[in-house]
Amino acid sequence: MKVIQVRATYKVESESRAGKYYSVTLEHLHCDCPHFMVRLKKTGGECKHIKAAREFIAAKRSPKNNKILDFIREQGEVDVITLIDRFDEATVNELIRKGDIMERNGKISSMD
Ligand SMILES: [Zn+2]
Repeated sequence: MKVIQVRATYKVESESRAGKYYSVTLEHLHCDCPHFMVRLKKTGGECKHIKAAREFIAAKRSPKNNKILDFIREQGEVDVITLIDRFDEATVNELIRKGDIMERNGKISSMD
């Protein structure tokens, strides 16, 4: 699905109506498509536009960041020293700053 980012909002094109875009925000989970407004808003579910916005963000991450994130997901929790040895400190710090991973007592875990 086509996704256009406008600051914190993602415009996601409708699958059934080309040229029609829905507005998605992820901070306050919201989409203005009928499926979300009528049903999912109440249940906290995610429509396909919200999922498309999440995929768009994941695809934007650099391959290097993805490698680190995949490694952490595989391991569950990784010692911070191991991670810095294996990858590099700047990238690990960047991921912590962006909130993709977190450090607690010398252990790194993924935020997803
Ligand atoms: Zn939607």
